[in-house]
Amino acid sequence: MLTNIPEAFTAFTLSGVGLHSGLTTTVRIMPAKPGTGRYFVRVDQPQQPIIPAKLDSVSQTTLSTELAQETASGSVIKVRTVEHLLAALSVNGIQDARIEIDGSEVPLLDGSAKLWTDAVAENMRHNQIIEHNSYPPLAIQQPIIVQEKDSFVSAIPASETRFTYGIDFPYNAIANQWHSWTLNREDFATEIAPARTFGFAEEIEYLKKSGLIKGGNLDNALVCSHQGWLNPPLRFTNEPARHKLLDLVGDLSLLGTFPQAHFLAYKASHKLHIQLAKKISLLTDN
Ligand SMILES: [Zn+2]
Repeated sequence: MLTNIPEAFTAFTLSGVGLHSGLTTTVRIMPAKPGTGRYFVRVDQPQQPIIPAKLDSVSQTTLSTELAQETASGSVIKVRTVEHLLAALSVNGIQDARIEIDGSEVPLLDGSAKLWTDAVAENMRHNQIIEHNSYPPLAIQQPIIVQEKDSFVSAIPASETRFTYGIDFPYNAIANQWHSWTLNREDFATEIAPARTFGFAEEIEYLKKSGLIKGGNLDNALVCSHQGWLNPPLRFTNEPARHKLLDLVGDLSLLGTFPQAHFLAYKASHKLHIQLAKKISLLTDN
């Protein structure tokens, strides 16, 4: 299979507002040498420090996944809400990329991974289709599970890499819903990437007071209330479950490659996604 060709895509740029910071940033994604992995470069900072898009860099998982790195001078630099961008890159086989960003949060764009995925597709060079799993995939041999109360994420032995996500919220508009997807770029672009982030009208005030979701609005997040959706129509009847699946894909991509397993999650969170990824990474370290 053709893999890790540094020129497999041409550099591209997208700008937008960060969900939590409310600040506009510009992200430029450039090819990188094979084996260098995906890494953010804070080009707004002196010395342009690097934050590897790896599990070891995860610093926080409240409502989004944040990466951080201590610089030589002892200060800590961060980049937040990396999951949608990383999902789009990894499903399209881009495991090596220099991601320049001029602030601390990746733009939310329309709340989904659609614009990232479209940009990757447009800038992929035609005759060099790269496959995911450019490294021999780790096959999960025994079920692995992390859980917290009635929430869990598990990796189950399987013949292909597959994801299933279930959620259950006490809102009629969401309730209990599920989605399944087998790793492949075509279906990702149409079935997973367009699913937008969602939130609850009752929580907006509290989150804003806590300094979160300053960039959230009815154009970049689905908002649910007990009366229904504030900003329909949905792109899919189970759009929230699909979005959670997208988040899981982005978080697990911090492993560097997707293991061969069926990932089954229920009512989970970025925190549990990362815990499962760390447990899997121990299998390869030993
Ligand atoms: Zn998300």
